[in-house]
Amino acid sequence: MGIDVWLPRDQGEPETAPLAAPAAADWESLKACVASCTRCELAQSRTNTVFGVGNQQADWLIIGEAPGAEEDRRGEPFVGRAGKLLDEMLRAIGQSRESVFIANILKCRPPNNRDPKPAEAAACREYLEQQIDFVRPRIILAVGRIAAQNLLDSDAPVGRMRGRRHDFGGIPLVVTYHPAYLLRSPSQKRKSWADLCLAARLATEAQG
Ligand code: URA
Repeated sequence: MGIDVWLPRDQGEPETAPLAAPAAADWESLKACVASCTRCELAQSRTNTVFGVGNQQADWLIIGEAPGAEEDRRGEPFVGRAGKLLDEMLRAIGQSRESVFIANILKCRPPNNRDPKPAEAAACREYLEQQIDFVRPRIILAVGRIAAQNLLDSDAPVGRMRGRRHDFGGIPLVVTYHPAYLLRSPSQKRKSWADLCLAARLATEAQG
């Protein structure tokens, strides 16, 4: 990833965000609910829902924003250029697309890659909370502003949220830059590496 500095960070004070009780009984029924979802207008324009991919019992849950055009076509998250960089970031911490679980705030593509509307994120929220509840990861990595702001119910910029430990329903959460942003601003990769190292440390600590 071309990263040359390892900077452990302070953990800071955890926040809390309660998890909803799961409404779908299991992973397969949750998947089926998502595949047939019509809770918001994105159901009309999508090609495929993008449920997420990876290990259902992963230690790491990576949460991005929403599917783009390629993800909508293929029904899989992070398959474009940003996805390649995400794969590299995962490799740098000894993980892979198969070992982690990758999901998004939205399961459907917003037209023209616009930001998710609050009502869309709210309609999709239960699915994500159920995924978190089923996976029970040791660490959540929120990549990018939309993921971080939605998960932490904040309007702070990524620069203020990254670099420290947050908490989502008792699970440590770390914010870092979105790989698409890192492609545009490679000088920020060093900070992202520090975030990944922090997340790796928290995941190890959570192992007990
Ligand atoms: N960006 C995201 O946040 N998620 C994807 O699935 C693809 C690109």
